[in-house]
Amino acid sequence: MTYCFAPAPVRSLAIADSEQRFPVNRIFCVGRNYAEHAREMGKDPEREAPFFFMKPAQAVLDCASPALMHYPPQTNNLHHEVELVVAIATGGRDIAAADALSHVFGYAVGLDMTRRDLQNTAKNAGRPWEFGKAFAQSAPMGVLHTVHSVGHIDNARIQLQVNASVRQDSNIDQLIWSVAESIAQLSMFEALEPGDLIMTGTPAGVAAVVPGDVMLAAIDGLGAIEVQVA
Ligand code: MN
Repeated sequence: MTYCFAPAPVRSLAIADSEQRFPVNRIFCVGRNYAEHAREMGKDPEREAPFFFMKPAQAVLDCASPALMHYPPQTNNLHHEVELVVAIATGGRDIAAADALSHVFGYAVGLDMTRRDLQNTAKNAGRPWEFGKAFAQSAPMGVLHTVHSVGHIDNARIQLQVNASVRQDSNIDQLIWSVAESIAQLSMFEALEPGDLIMTGTPAGVAAVVPGDVMLAAIDGLGAIEVQVA
């Protein structure tokens, strides 16, 4: 069997202290998973069950070293959302929350870059968010740290600076739906597979970046990523 042309390359993430790389399958994202961010988006955090959206694996921007993100087309309002990324090693469907963390390979720092104007237009029109969230380089991500080396990340500072000024500053313990609960909920809708990533939501403070800005995103225990908008 041959392909009619070369298939798209497999996107992957570096793994700390390993020669191997983590092949990215799908990227699931949890919406509005910090109360203060839900409020800044005009929603009541107490009443909503978790909801999910996706980005293609091709959205990954490798930030193992300082990276350049090209300002995407068709937007005038590109927002940063710093997030804890969970990498799935095994998976399955209807995973119990009590068992969910056993499916985790490791964790990374990530950014859910968002064309907020396109997202809001779609939202207001009752259309899919797709082009607000899923586009090239919309998922900058750092090196994966294995559970074996860093344990589970449930209480760690999460911060984003733009040009050395703090924009987002919270703690993973503020997640409305924990990593385990997010895995359990997600697996009710779709069987999780090895290589899946879950972006767990962003704390308050989302705002725009423009060409020339430098984002520095960090989670205690997972290091930092540096992304310049070009
Ligand atoms: Mn997000």
